[in-house]
Amino acid sequence: MSIIKIPSLFDMHVHLRDPGFTYKEDIITGTAAALAGGFSGVACMPNTNPPIDNADTINYILDKAKNTGVEVYPVACITKGMKGEELTDFKALKQAGAIAVSDDGRPVENLKLMEMALISAYENNLPIISHCEDLAIVNGGVINKGFVSEDLGVKGIDRLSEDSVTAREIALAQKTNTKIHIAHVSTYGSVEIIRNAKRNGVKVTCETCPHYFMLTEQVLLKKDADYRMNPPLRTEKDVKAIIEGIIDGTIDCIVTDHAPHSPQEKSNFLTAPNGVIGLETSFAATLTALYHTGLVTINKIVELMSTNPRKILNLPKTEKYITVDLDEEWVVDVNNFKSKSRNSCFKNTILKGQVASACVSHHSLTRLYP
Ligand SMILES: [Zn+2]
Ligand SMILES: [Zn+2]
Repeated sequence: MSIIKIPSLFDMHVHLRDPGFTYKEDIITGTAAALAGGFSGVACMPNTNPPIDNADTINYILDKAKNTGVEVYPVACITKGMKGEELTDFKALKQAGAIAVSDDGRPVENLKLMEMALISAYENNLPIISHCEDLAIVNGGVINKGFVSEDLGVKGIDRLSEDSVTAREIALAQKTNTKIHIAHVSTYGSVEIIRNAKRNGVKVTCETCPHYFMLTEQVLLKKDADYRMNPPLRTEKDVKAIIEGIIDGTIDCIVTDHAPHSPQEKSNFLTAPNGVIGLETSFAATLTALYHTGLVTINKIVELMSTNPRKILNLPKTEKYITVDLDEEWVVDVNNFKSKSRNSCFKNTILKGQVASACVSHHSLTRLYP
């Protein structure tokens, strides 16, 4: 047994589904899942119902999260109703408690509108997070375009969908000399585009998720919708590039993109909504794939899963700690999840490393572990 103490984790990309879709998840169950996974803070995405484009919804979320033991920071919409037509009032949303803006789940298709959003985000010192996807290229595609989509005879999504919008966002950030954060990077092309942009001084940061450095499209041959998310699982070449990007600092954060859906919704491979849950497996998956393989240190994982996301969102370092048993091996059993949903792409996987005690203050911890 090898127990260590590290700063508590922060996930800057979760979908808590509350308000509006509480049969999938709510703020109480989502934060319980976060605590179990070692997270003392999360930023929650605005594709709720109503969407987070108004102060009332922000107040509702902050109020419901108050006694959960998890800091919940709402991300507000870039455009009203996430319709891509008209910017929300960034200043008012920030005043109400929004930590960032994003239309996550959708791209802001109108280039001019996105440029205005970047400028307004800059003026209000509000981080802006882009979901990079070209809907015209996606055009009904359900998984990565390649051998597996051909094998299964289903419509594929070309990497160009992600890469082209990543390149567009970087061009906009460069032109306006403002910051941009790219969500869920999944392709070798996007890693390369972001690496070059950083070298050229563009203020771009980005995130990826454990499934993009642990799984490939091969698992989709099972035709199980629990392995379908957006962007989709790609290939060995992409996995390798994501890992290289993590090691060389191109990728700043590991997030979950925790996206709960009910078993009923996930029952049909082709028509199920995109998304997988991740709060209760993310840290263990990362330890298994990156630490126990000798690719990165624990300090690097703390940077990726605590320090950097907080920095990107202008939050101070956490004062909370977790204890971790680095060597505990366990099988992911979806029935043990605090989350309401079961759509884990790590189900029945053996992971190494587990949170031993969740999010205690530094003070009480020193008493426990002198
Ligand atoms: Zn997204
Ligand atoms: Zn998302």
